[in-house]
Amino acid sequence: MKQIAFIGLGNMGGPMAANLAKAGHRVTGFDLSQASLDAAAQAGVATAGSLRDAVKDAEAVVTMLPKGEHVVAVWRELCGLVPAGTLLIDCSTVDVESARSAHALAETAGCVSLDAPVSGGTGGAAAGTLTFMAGGTEAAFGRARPLLEAMGKRIVHCGGNGAGQAAKICNNMILGISMIAVGEAFALAEKLGLSHQALFDVASTSSGQCWSLTSYCPVPGPVPASPANNDYKPGFAASLMLKDLMLSQDAASASGASTPLGAAATGLYAAFDRDGNGGRDFSAIIEMLRRQGEP
Ligand code: NAD
Repeated sequence: MKQIAFIGLGNMGGPMAANLAKAGHRVTGFDLSQASLDAAAQAGVATAGSLRDAVKDAEAVVTMLPKGEHVVAVWRELCGLVPAGTLLIDCSTVDVESARSAHALAETAGCVSLDAPVSGGTGGAAAGTLTFMAGGTEAAFGRARPLLEAMGKRIVHCGGNGAGQAAKICNNMILGISMIAVGEAFALAEKLGLSHQALFDVASTSSGQCWSLTSYCPVPGPVPASPANNDYKPGFAASLMLKDLMLSQDAASASGASTPLGAAATGLYAAFDRDGNGGRDFSAIIEMLRRQGEP
């Protein structure tokens, strides 16, 4: 049993912290939002009124925050609060540069650090079945592994500092592209008079099969737990999808990789976000695709 501080108790962090507590760890959570604090408390997580109080006596600190700037700012503060040797794990999805800056802050403070972003969505966070992709030393990975196992099913050590974020950015570029592909297929099926269920029954067992279709279907009906059945309440907000696609495009230009579909998906999610849809689930982009087909 360990004393763990969990910073960022939102759609993902809240259920992840709850799973650490269920596994028998003493978890103290902190979030700037009272609603997130209240939800975490209801799920069995002790909460603190400040970062300082949350990390008191913590052997490990987990962060699950929106963007790189939040992670670097929080790690800068917490590196001044925790003793050397504390294990710091960031599970947010951020750019590789921010991840490496956070590792550097930890190293200066004598802490052990890991970037460990996740895949699997809010359903995976609640069920404790996330995939973790980790970047850092073998020693950091070894110490973090038992904690990650309390929140996930598959734990992959991808390489050194920032390697977890590199894997996550590549994975989410596939996700953004595939959600648009699935949305386009349903929009086309509607025009052709094909029912949602018929397309789902065929494509989910054929070569069109993918997670965006079978686990996160963007039309109501075939996958009852998907946000399409809940007025596209996130889930995974479109603004965060856009953030990840922009990270992929920044990484592609910096490294000289060619990602034409990644670029197109980024443009479509940027338009969707500009139309005021950033707070809706990313699968709601099917509505924009339908509208674009209207005369
Ligand atoms: P969210 O917006 O629901 O949660 C983020 C939380 O961080 C919020 O409650 C916010 O109040 C809190 N926060 C922000 N700044 C803070 C600070 N300085 N101190 C304390 N708390 C602070 O976002 P989410 O959906 O939980 O996503 C979190 C991260 O996980 C993002 O990087 C996202 O890209 C990634 N992610 C999300 C999903 C998903 O399906 N939602 C899946 C995989 C990865």
